Amino acid sequence: MKKDEKTDALKKIRDEVWALECPLSLERRQNGVNAVLGEGSHDANVMFIGEAPGKNEAEQGRPFCGAAGRVLDELLASINMPRESVYITNIVKDRPTQNRDPSPEEIDLYAPFLDRQIEIIQPKIIATLGRFSMQYLMNRYGLSHALDSISKIHGQVFSADTSYGKVTFVPLYHPAVALYNGATRDELKEDFKVIKKYLEQTKDL
Ligand code: URA
Repeated sequence: MKKDEKTDALKKIRDEVWALECPLSLERRQNGVNAVLGEGSHDANVMFIGEAPGKNEAEQGRPFCGAAGRVLDELLASINMPRESVYITNIVKDRPTQNRDPSPEEIDLYAPFLDRQIEIIQPKIIATLGRFSMQYLMNRYGLSHALDSISKIHGQVFSADTSYGKVTFVPLYHPAVALYNGATRDELKEDFKVIKKYLEQTKDL
């Protein structure tokens, strides 16, 4: 897909999410906040996929711009990866209030938008942040057999078949966990090195 076509296809997704009629989108309109579609390079080699926007994200309409985002920025910096070079999004595009976990119904409703974003951007590496996007995408890409708790499989590398070819899939802890757990922060740092290594390898392909 050419650059303009990608932009148009992503705008179409944005318009559809904006127009959604579901409990979370109704709350979004009532509270005067934003849906969070994603941001970054439309040609990104690496796509990071979190859970759902938090308060700051819904206010600003940007993913990972609050406390968890600062951890993510630090992790990206630790492997010299500019934030603008990657694409960052979430599985659920509207904020579940009170910072609760997204429900299975909410994931079912919003996940097709994520599927389309992946098809448009066509990243070589997909890194999930937290267990919700990990579970959804591992099931989606035929990796259910390898699905386990995040504490067991974080930082492992899986190969997934997508409609546009092979993708390297790396489940990661959610950066918010690193806010209150220093050991997880260290593990995340190590896992980010895996992403860097695989990215360097895919550059030669
Ligand atoms: N947590 C997420 O999962 N996504 C965000 O965008 C912010 C916090």
